[in-house]
Amino acid sequence: MNHKFRFNKESMDRIKRFMTGEEPPQTPEPPQEEEQPSQVEVVREGGLCAALLTDIGCVRVSNQDALVKGEMLFGVADGMGGHNGGETASAGARDGLVSLLEGKQPSVDALRTAFKAVNHRLFLQQQEDESLSGMGTTLSVVWLSENYVYIGHVGDSRVYLLRDGEFRQVTDDHSLVAELERLGQLTHEQALHHPMKNVITRAVGTEETIDTDLMVEERRKGDTWLICSDGLTGMVSDKSIEAIISANEVEKAAELLVEAARKGGGRDNISVALVREEEAAE
Ligand code: CA
Repeated sequence: MNHKFRFNKESMDRIKRFMTGEEPPQTPEPPQEEEQPSQVEVVREGGLCAALLTDIGCVRVSNQDALVKGEMLFGVADGMGGHNGGETASAGARDGLVSLLEGKQPSVDALRTAFKAVNHRLFLQQQEDESLSGMGTTLSVVWLSENYVYIGHVGDSRVYLLRDGEFRQVTDDHSLVAELERLGQLTHEQALHHPMKNVITRAVGTEETIDTDLMVEERRKGDTWLICSDGLTGMVSDKSIEAIISANEVEKAAELLVEAARKGGGRDNISVALVREEEAAE
């Protein structure tokens, strides 16, 4: 397999500090004083029911995740970068993608072109505004036509599919530990607890060009798609996620997933988008 390693400046600096033992200790940010309960957004259209929920988590002072919701388009963006960089990047990716895909017929080409354009916009934005330097975002979405599901993915947010009782991760994480795991240099267990598990190898907006993972799946009755940020998968095991999704309506499942991530520590922002194909009416 041919896996490219690509790092932005920020992650390279972190790697250098880590290799030379200079990685600064991670101090948790103080909790927010007033917390607004997060609200699930429910969408019913085109034979499916979707539920989207984002939550600041238990330790972060801001939510740098953004939910993506357009015409039959659902996903998450998980921003990174100091000051307002993270929020600017994830919100920019969300708004850019939603508007670029509006009114378009779902296809791999349209998705690729839109990811490219969104990347270019964010890249230019940070070239022009020094305070946004180093910003970037993950972007993982599903976009549904009448018969197909188009998946676009960059970064370490994830797309999962629950089909016929089988729950699987559809996307590959573009993270340092996942690359090392695929190369056989880390075990799955080592990757789960690695101090550098947050370093991502691909992001939207960090470089002039972008390499987007694109996939197509058939739409099937009863399928459930989950798109989520690492604030969920870093806190809750795949097994627990599967159990929650299998046993609940999407609206309830979204709440329970966020609750499980908070109980697991809630060390990061948590975002989930659940899309369930409804069974045909009798
Ligand atoms: Ca995150």
